[in-house]
Amino acid sequence: MYTETSKKLFEEALQLLPGGVSSPVRAIKPYPFYTEKASDSRIWDVDGNYYIDYCMGYGPLMLGHAHPTVCEAVSEQLLRGWDYGTPVKMELELARRVQDDFPSMQMLRFVSTGTEATMAAIRVARGFSRKKKIVMIEGGYHGAHDAVLLKAGSHAVSVPSSLGVPDEVVRNTLQVPFNNLDALTAALEKDNDIACLIMEPVMGNIGPVLPEDGYLREVRKITQENDVLLVFDEVITGFRLCIGGAQCYYSVTPDLTTLGKIVGGGFPLGVFGGRSEIMDIVAPCGEVFNAGTFNGHPISLAAGLATLNILDEEGYKRVNGLGDLMRRMLSDLIQEFNIGYTVQGIGSMFQVFFTDRPVRNYQDALNSNAELYKTFTNLMLEQWIFLPPSQYETNFISLAHSNEDLEWTIEAYGNALRKLFSIAELPEGY
Ligand code: PMP
Repeated sequence: MYTETSKKLFEEALQLLPGGVSSPVRAIKPYPFYTEKASDSRIWDVDGNYYIDYCMGYGPLMLGHAHPTVCEAVSEQLLRGWDYGTPVKMELELARRVQDDFPSMQMLRFVSTGTEATMAAIRVARGFSRKKKIVMIEGGYHGAHDAVLLKAGSHAVSVPSSLGVPDEVVRNTLQVPFNNLDALTAALEKDNDIACLIMEPVMGNIGPVLPEDGYLREVRKITQENDVLLVFDEVITGFRLCIGGAQCYYSVTPDLTTLGKIVGGGFPLGVFGGRSEIMDIVAPCGEVFNAGTFNGHPISLAAGLATLNILDEEGYKRVNGLGDLMRRMLSDLIQEFNIGYTVQGIGSMFQVFFTDRPVRNYQDALNSNAELYKTFTNLMLEQWIFLPPSQYETNFISLAHSNEDLEWTIEAYGNALRKLFSIAELPEGY
């Protein structure tokens, strides 16, 4: 296999960490590679092999790994100390920058992760509206907190997707399919105790699944008509699709927004914010509690500011162009095979689904052959291409990727697909 040292380290890790990892998606079978260093579009394992990286830390690294300007900003901040427990000027600079790019976030709060941001946004929506229930989209992911950990799929009563989450908690969370306005209207009209709808405007955690024409605009209308707050979880799409995220791209204004990943330039930072009259309810101004030792951490603020200062229209044009090129080359490649797959994505996000039908929602995503996809990602790793190891993740291109990277990657895709489809014995369901 590609890295013997990684294998040994993973065997040791299995004794120390549940499943050998610090977050479940990292438990690549038969074992993950251990990283020594990374720069630009490359990541090196502990045996000195390097891979072209499309995982990119699961999205934050829009500039690629170890961008020198971010490195410098972080190093300078380190020398001044890194944890004060007091306000810092950078909070204002970054808040102003976020607000300029996301005008719907008239007031905002810095937290440490996307999970905290969505947890707080939901609490704010409940506190402001004095209503109890929330609605989410089937297959949406909003972090690892109780209210949003329910089994996807149409169950009469919501069921927790994790042990340790009380039934009573998820019973207050309803779900509807993506790209389905009738189901949303029915859910909101049936129940007048719904505080908010929380959704990823472009779904990123079942692979990239795009909103259909006019869908988000109608969602805005329906939520308004039913007096339900609309929360856009832009932890992935914020600063990814374009400077102003999906809400700018699709011209739809939510009441509350959550950000993470890119806004911290690859350091832990989350943000929630929205209309001032709503955010006024957050402590110490109002009675919705939110706090954190590491909220607005200076290192993350420095990295975020340095990252956002580099991102400009020109950069998005280039990186989204690379995304278009990648999707085009992947679609062209299909001609070679008599077995279909579906290429989806937007901007610098892309994925190949092992199904020949378009993926419009979670149920469609389930039709893809996720087992085959796992084998496929290992075939790619053998050719030094690192893709997120699940059918239901999104691949990310960064500004550090080059046309040559993409050409090399496409060659590897071709080889891997040829190998996969010829050895296949395609498993049932394909
Ligand atoms: N929301 C979305 C849309 C996400 O994709 C994620 C993480 N992938 C989160 C929230 C949670 O963010 P974090 O992992 O930083 O807690």
